[in-house]
Amino acid sequence: MDRLRSTDIKYIKGVGPKRAELLEKQLGIKTCADLLRHYPAHYVDRSSIYRIADFSGDMPSVQVKGRFVSFAVQGEGAKTRLIGLFSDGTKAMEVVWFNRIKTIRDTYLPGTTYILFGKPTEFNGRWSMVHPEIDRADSPNVSVGLRGVYPLTETLRNRGITSRTLHSIITTLLPRCEAIRDPLPQSLVAQLHLMPLGQALRCIHSPANNDELQRARLRLKFEELFYLQLNILRYCRERSQSVPGFRFARIGHYFNTFYKECLPFELTGAQKRVIKEIRQDVGTGRQMNRLLQGDVGSGKTLVALLCMLMALDNGTQACLMAPTEILATQHFETLSSLASSIGVNIKLLTGSTPKKERDLIHTALLDGSLHILVGTHAVIEDTVRFKNLGFVVIDEQHRFGVAQRARLWKKNSIPPHILVMTATPIPRTLAMTVYGDLDVSVIDELPPGRKPVQTLLRYDDTRMEVYQSIGRQLKLGRQAYIVYPLISENEKVDLRSLEEGYDIIRQVFPSYSVAYVHGRMKPAEKDAQMTLFAGGKAQILVATTVIEVGVNVPNASVMLIENAERFGLSQLHQLRGRVGRGADQSFCVLMTKRKISSDTRKRLEVMTSTTDGFVVAEADLKMRGPGDLEGTLQSGMAVDLRIASLATDGQIVQLARDSANRILDTSPALDSPELAGVRREMALMFDKSVDWRRIS
Ligand code: ADP
Ligand code: MG
Repeated sequence: MDRLRSTDIKYIKGVGPKRAELLEKQLGIKTCADLLRHYPAHYVDRSSIYRIADFSGDMPSVQVKGRFVSFAVQGEGAKTRLIGLFSDGTKAMEVVWFNRIKTIRDTYLPGTTYILFGKPTEFNGRWSMVHPEIDRADSPNVSVGLRGVYPLTETLRNRGITSRTLHSIITTLLPRCEAIRDPLPQSLVAQLHLMPLGQALRCIHSPANNDELQRARLRLKFEELFYLQLNILRYCRERSQSVPGFRFARIGHYFNTFYKECLPFELTGAQKRVIKEIRQDVGTGRQMNRLLQGDVGSGKTLVALLCMLMALDNGTQACLMAPTEILATQHFETLSSLASSIGVNIKLLTGSTPKKERDLIHTALLDGSLHILVGTHAVIEDTVRFKNLGFVVIDEQHRFGVAQRARLWKKNSIPPHILVMTATPIPRTLAMTVYGDLDVSVIDELPPGRKPVQTLLRYDDTRMEVYQSIGRQLKLGRQAYIVYPLISENEKVDLRSLEEGYDIIRQVFPSYSVAYVHGRMKPAEKDAQMTLFAGGKAQILVATTVIEVGVNVPNASVMLIENAERFGLSQLHQLRGRVGRGADQSFCVLMTKRKISSDTRKRLEVMTSTTDGFVVAEADLKMRGPGDLEGTLQSGMAVDLRIASLATDGQIVQLARDSANRILDTSPALDSPELAGVRREMALMFDKSVDWRRIS
């Protein structure tokens, strides 16, 4: 593999310096090894030939065999196109080209038999194919069986580099695969019956049959996930051995007094269990890094407070960080009202804290008289220093990866324990990869007496009835959210729909006061509007998704989501969590146009059929792929996945994790001779600064 890694692709037959430059720019392919790792996105079956007369309905890409009858150029300027009439003896169809017209005219000859491969489309009863792949029927290039279709860019296509071109370039490399030494330890390959690397690379590009393809895919997916898990787990183990932590040995005054005298309600079983897990963890003398997952409204804040009190009882300070000013303020108010009476000193620090107050906070943190600091990102700035920070809670910050957490550890000579809280149900596979270095606790039980939010799917031609039912809720003294989607590419248009919506809502509900917020407002303006709603001065809040995270207005009992089909399921679930926070029956209305695809309907029906965030998240992951959530979480991950999918390869993730753990059990530093290959691969993968063309 090293030879392949150090060979620039420009030396391969059929590439040359120009194409090499293009491939590097467009696909990041520099070396022969990169090329071999550029896997097909999918495969097409080239084993059968279709008859044009049999074309019908929505066709996949197919092969046909026949001759060109005539060619004609049509249109002018940018619209110029070449039309070839192609007949296979059963019927004729049109073949269309929009560029490289002269080359095409010169290449393909009427009367010669060709095999075309492309997707037939129908217009007015006539079939056509745009830019098909074409081979002479007698050419040795004609492939049979499965053929890979490679990911390409538009630019590459326009410059005449097709999936075909790539395939034939890669094919010239395949004989060299035989010599590739498998970096995985032989024992692992044997135990899991994995296809050896060289063979897998050959088969992924040129599988003889489906069975072979599946084995190759399994091997390459496994390998990718295995290195990733090994990296995460190695890091975890090292950290837990080398980094000391605070040992919270005692439960003292603050915790006990609060627990006995101030607890506003009996803790749920799940809350108790989680607190116990955390207590055990912080008692070991090692630094805790834990993820606390719990659906919206499951009572994570109270758990966080009890943990922070534990920290105070052991002579340290605590800090809670939230993603927005609104949320930080809410947390500050909640915590103050709960814990001030037992003599806990809590302060709020955000971007808008005045200088004078800020200075006071800095001093109080250093002399230890300030016990708990609540705030936004402002709390991790270097100017904020603690006397002895023992516990940090991070609420709803998915971009807060290992690197950022590491910054917090440095705030103290002994790194504080860290609790990351999220209401976004992170499916297992994602949690194992992206948050794979954290231990996980789950609150899987809501406080008693909550009525699940009733979710309804409604079409916009029944809008008036929906408004009427919202009116009934308002009459009962409740409040309502009305949410509009915001799509980043086109914020202007969406803003207009929000503004129009705002006007309509004011007309429909003239006797109520309507507040409104969107992402492009100044923070102060936004806060002012939110405060109107949170304080009950406005009964209706018209908003974009900025209200998604954490906002708590228990009196709000109904939410109307416009164009619900434009939201992801997890996002809908988050939004829905803004209602149903009080004792009243709450409602969430998903509004769409009447004509939606059956897939969309299926997606939305997940929402109407369950209120369980994990069910929603799993469904979302299956239907859309890791998409948004993965995107948001990417920062926490070290490498991109090329072939494995976190959405569908859950079992392989687990297998990779188990295997990585076993390897680390026997060789914690990965220094056994059998692991030389693995060590090398990992160094290459996780140290991106090495350019291998420069080395050999
Ligand atoms: P989240 O997990 O979404 O952050 P919160 O901590 O904001 O949830 O809690 C939601 C609401 O539930 C709050 O009003 C809180 O006071 C209440 N709550 C928390 N724990 C309990 C409990 N054990 N019994 C009853 N109500 C609770
Ligand atoms: Mg919360």
